[in-house]
Amino acid sequence: MIVPWYRKLHWQILIGLVLGLIYGIIAATSGWVAFTTDWIAPWGKIFINLLTLIAVPLVLASLITGVASLADTRRLSRIGGKTIGIYLCTTLFALVIGLLLVNVVDPGSAVPEEMRERLMATYQDDASSRAEQAREAKERGPLQPLIDMVPSNVFESVSNNRAMLQVVFFALFAGVCLLMIPREKAQPLIGFFDSLSELVIKMVEVIMRIAPFGVFCLLASTITDIAGDDPSQILELLSALGLYGAVVIAGLVTHVVLTYATILTLFTPKRLVDFFGAVTPAQLVAFSTSSSGATLPISMDVAERRLGVSEEVTSFVLPLGATINMDGTGLYQAVAAVFIAQAVGLDLDLASQVTIVLTAMLASIGTAAVPSAGIVMLVIILESINVPAAGIALILGVDRILDMCRTVVNVTGDLTVATVVAHSEGQLTDLSDPEPKLAT
Ligand code: ASP
Repeated sequence: MIVPWYRKLHWQILIGLVLGLIYGIIAATSGWVAFTTDWIAPWGKIFINLLTLIAVPLVLASLITGVASLADTRRLSRIGGKTIGIYLCTTLFALVIGLLLVNVVDPGSAVPEEMRERLMATYQDDASSRAEQAREAKERGPLQPLIDMVPSNVFESVSNNRAMLQVVFFALFAGVCLLMIPREKAQPLIGFFDSLSELVIKMVEVIMRIAPFGVFCLLASTITDIAGDDPSQILELLSALGLYGAVVIAGLVTHVVLTYATILTLFTPKRLVDFFGAVTPAQLVAFSTSSSGATLPISMDVAERRLGVSEEVTSFVLPLGATINMDGTGLYQAVAAVFIAQAVGLDLDLASQVTIVLTAMLASIGTAAVPSAGIVMLVIILESINVPAAGIALILGVDRILDMCRTVVNVTGDLTVATVVAHSEGQLTDLSDPEPKLAT
C-alpha cells in the first residue's frame, strides 16, 4: 500500500516545525507572547518531559539485554574501541573545519565597536553566571570525568537525566556480569529487562505520534522567547552577529556534507538519500528540543527501524554518543572562541589554536546533552587561551538558534557512527529489501 506523503512522520514533523515557526513570528509581532507562554509552551515542555522520561529506562533496559545476549565480551570491547575511535576522529574533523572557516572569514572584525559594547552590557549578568558555573566545573582534578562516570549509588544515577554516562557504565557492568553467572540464574533478570525494553520501545512509538504537535509548540515558544515583546531586536542582533552565525552554520553543513557523507559512502553500502531520509525525524526533534538527551529515544528508534542498525549496536553506540560525541558543539565552541578573540581584538597564534582543538575536544565530551550546555563549557576554552570569559556576552543573543543547529549535527553524527559500526560488525540490515537481510 502506498502511504500518501503527508501521512509520513517526517513530513508531519516538518509541517509542525514550519507552522510553529510561522505562528511564533506572528505571535511575537502581534503581542500574543503571554498567551503563547501560558497555553502553548507547556505542551512543548510536556513533549520534552515525555522524551526525557523514557531516556534512562530505555538505555538501561536495552543496554543490559544487548550485552547479556552477546556470546562473548570480546565483541563488546571491539565495538567499544571502534566507536570511541570514530567518535574522536569525527570530532577532530569538525574542529578543524570550524577553525579553518572562522580564521578565513574573520567574522569578529565585522562587529561594529558600538554594537560590541551594547551586547556586552546587555548580556553581562547572564555571562557572569555561566562563567561561574564553568569555574566550578574547572576546579576539579584531571581524572574527575572518570570518577563522575562511576556512580556510588545507581538509584541516584537513574533518577538524574544528566547522569546518562553513569547509567551506561552500570548497564554495561551489569550486562557483562550477567554473562558470568549461570544462565538459569540470569534468565529472570534478562527477561525482566527484555520486557522493560519492549515497553519503552512502545512508549517511543506512541510519543512519536504526537511529535508533530510537540515540535509545533516548542518552535512557537522558542521564537516568542527569543523575540520577547520587541522583535526588532532580533534583526539588530542578526545584523551584528549574522556573519558569526553564518560561519557556524556553514561549518556545520560542511561537516555533515564532507565528513559524514564521506564516511558513509566509504564504509557503508547505504545510499546517502536513504540515510538522510531515514534520520530526518531525529534531526527535526533535535532541532526543536535542542537536546540530544531528549532526542535519544527517537534516535534509537530511527537507528533500528529506519536505518536497520541492530539493537546491540544501537543500544551501545547511541547512548554513548549522546553523552560524549558532540561534533556540532565542538565546532561551534571552536568558532565561538576565535570569534570572541577577534571581536575583542586579540590575536591567536598557532599554539592557541592547537589549545582550542585540545580543550574543545574535551569540552565537547564533557558537555551535557541539554540545551545551552555548550556555552558553559566554552568558558573553559576561553580561559585556556586567555580570552576574557565575559566575552560570551557577545554571542548569548543568538545562542539558542545555533544550539538548535549544532544539536542536529550532534545527533546526525551519532547516527552516522552507529551505521558505520553496525556495518563493520555485519549488523546492518538492508531495509529496502522486501525480505530484509544483512547489508553487504
Ligand atoms: N544542546 C546540545 C545537545 O544537547 C549541547 C550544546 O551544545 O549545548 O547536544
